[in-house]
Amino acid sequence: MANILDSSVKYVTGVGEARAKVLEKELGILTVGDLLRHYPFRYIDRTKIYRIADIDERMASSLVQLRARVTGVGYAGAGRKQRFSVYVSDASGSAELIWFRGIKWMEKNVEVGREYLVFGRPMFYRGELSMAHPELELVEKAMNRPVRSGMQGIYPSSEKIASTFGAKGFYNIVCNAWILAQEHIAETMPEAVRRSYDLMPLREAMFNIHFPQSAEALARAERRLKFDEFLGVQLSVQSHRTDRMTKRNGFVFSRVGEFFTDFFEHRLPFSLTGAQKRVIREIRRDTVSGYQMNRLLQGDVGSGKTMVALMSMLLAVDNGFQACMMAPTEILARQHFATVSRLTEGMDLGVAILTGSSKAAERRRALEGIASGEVRILVGTHALIEDKVRFANLGYVVIDEQHRFGVEQRARLWTKNLQPPHILVMTATPIPRTLAMTLYGDLDVSVIDELPPGRQPIRTFHYTDAARLKLWGFLRKQIAAGRQAYIVYPLIKESETMDYKDLEDGFESVVRDFPLPEYRVTVCHGKMKPQDKEESMRQFKEREADILVATSVIEVGVDVPNATVMVIESAERFGLSQLHQLRGRVGRGGEQSYCILMTGEKLSREARARLRAMCETNDGFRLAELDLKLRGAGDINGTQQSGVAFDLKIANPTLDADLLQTAKEAAIALLDGDPALARPEHAALRALRARHAGGAKFDFSMIS
Ligand code: ADP
Ligand code: MG
Repeated sequence: MANILDSSVKYVTGVGEARAKVLEKELGILTVGDLLRHYPFRYIDRTKIYRIADIDERMASSLVQLRARVTGVGYAGAGRKQRFSVYVSDASGSAELIWFRGIKWMEKNVEVGREYLVFGRPMFYRGELSMAHPELELVEKAMNRPVRSGMQGIYPSSEKIASTFGAKGFYNIVCNAWILAQEHIAETMPEAVRRSYDLMPLREAMFNIHFPQSAEALARAERRLKFDEFLGVQLSVQSHRTDRMTKRNGFVFSRVGEFFTDFFEHRLPFSLTGAQKRVIREIRRDTVSGYQMNRLLQGDVGSGKTMVALMSMLLAVDNGFQACMMAPTEILARQHFATVSRLTEGMDLGVAILTGSSKAAERRRALEGIASGEVRILVGTHALIEDKVRFANLGYVVIDEQHRFGVEQRARLWTKNLQPPHILVMTATPIPRTLAMTLYGDLDVSVIDELPPGRQPIRTFHYTDAARLKLWGFLRKQIAAGRQAYIVYPLIKESETMDYKDLEDGFESVVRDFPLPEYRVTVCHGKMKPQDKEESMRQFKEREADILVATSVIEVGVDVPNATVMVIESAERFGLSQLHQLRGRVGRGGEQSYCILMTGEKLSREARARLRAMCETNDGFRLAELDLKLRGAGDINGTQQSGVAFDLKIANPTLDADLLQTAKEAAIALLDGDPALARPEHAALRALRARHAGGAKFDFSMIS
């Protein structure tokens, strides 16, 4: 029997075909259940009704509600400057409500003489109260609202959603969805579990999350719904873990052979750090175990992950397997290819590259070599996982900077073989340690927690534009001393054209302030042709350019040890982990390096906190933890951006760490008694696990 929760959201009163499309496109809401799982991120108190006379200037810009009768309407201005006013009064005084948009609709719907609940932000002009674009609802109608709560939910929205549904419209469809589905919300949790973890029944929790009956009920509702999400994730993770540990289908790299030994003894340009050695040992241990390795390697920027990747690929080759290394960008893939080729020159390894912009000859060499087995190390971008690429015997895969890849892309690599290759995922955007441990069980997380010797900590400063001259002076000094500098402009998708304009203007002014022949400035951004990008990177790498002006395309992996200054323009527009990544482009040589964060004067509190954190610490783990905290539970994408692909709508792994731990214990206990969740009373849990299956792929599941 089909459950109403699984049927299309278009059946909810007030939605219909067209609006259902908007819901899907904007919020990913397909079904009635999806809509009810779209939770408010905050609430406003609708129980308090103010008298007009009691509203004063101190309340300006906070939301208030009043109950007043419409005494008349009026117009002012003309054409585009037109405004429409509704005059209202209660027993204590009067106010003016103003509209600049949607005037036609208002004049048609407002009825003079009737009483409304008015909800909006008070403004004062010469002591007179007014409100722009308030919400209006007939008092009679408000009294007959189908579902009542003193707290009204405010839902994550978008401009399109707001203009399609209006402020109250969205709330109304949630009410209607509730009325439609409430009888059909069945309990998912076995009674025993519910009791032992003191969880509110699901239906009650769903009701209270949308229509809180009290602050206490709301807190319990949140706890229950968070628990469900965590439990779903944990059931999925723990099942995969059990599954993997019962399969012994991993390739066995039993030998340490010629390539590895030759490299280690004759070619290694420096001695490995203790941490690099440890990680290589961990990979060794995994790859002889008979189980498929699925290891996450976290190491701060500049910690030397590439060397670990290369040496472990040599192990694969020593055992007769092919290895590939996948990077998130063209630039980075080319750089890895250059590094690997240089370090292994003359070793007869067969190293090739394949990217989206590989020319015919390069492409042919890669594809043919890979199929024949002649190419034993293939470096590239996600072009590596195109269907045309057929490996002879792929045994080992390195994925650099995993957060740039989606789960599905990783899955496709996996399915290229019947037997899954070992996988090493490397990232410099660390998932906080505690979080990684809990989300991934205690498996397969390696950490490089030591930088190569001789590195000096990067010094980070925050300047405003007023300090620009001083900054330029500093840059000139560094360049005179033979160093190089990056100047990075933000690139944020929504306003790409504007962003490129920023970059172009910036480039022009840098060229003006740093003229030839003394200074050589080059530019690199995503809109350039691949070969132009490459040429500009080459100039910078080979010290033919002193300054590289770029967008955040250079964010990951670029390695130019002689560069000592990273200037980040409009730094407030970058997230913490991005700032940290960018900073990691300098401080790679023995010289003291600097990161300069440029912003305007006006900054949000959160931006200030980010910049302060950057100036205070170089520790990527601390920054990652702080990042999750700063973004808080309101940000549904928070966890995704840190590289964790779980579908968490309400639970936040950092803020709700205790509950996550509880859910983990519950999951282990449940699976202990019923590994397949096959018992009838576990049917709903099975569905819950399935809903959260995607995220767990991060670790193990791509075999399936
Ligand atoms: P990341 O971990 O950010 O990918 P890289 O692998 O690019 O770091 O390494 C950063 C720089 O440090 C490179 O120039 C690399 O050659 C150098 N490096 C790596 N390991 C060592 C080491 N053990 N001793 C000295 N330099 C090293
Ligand atoms: Mg790297």
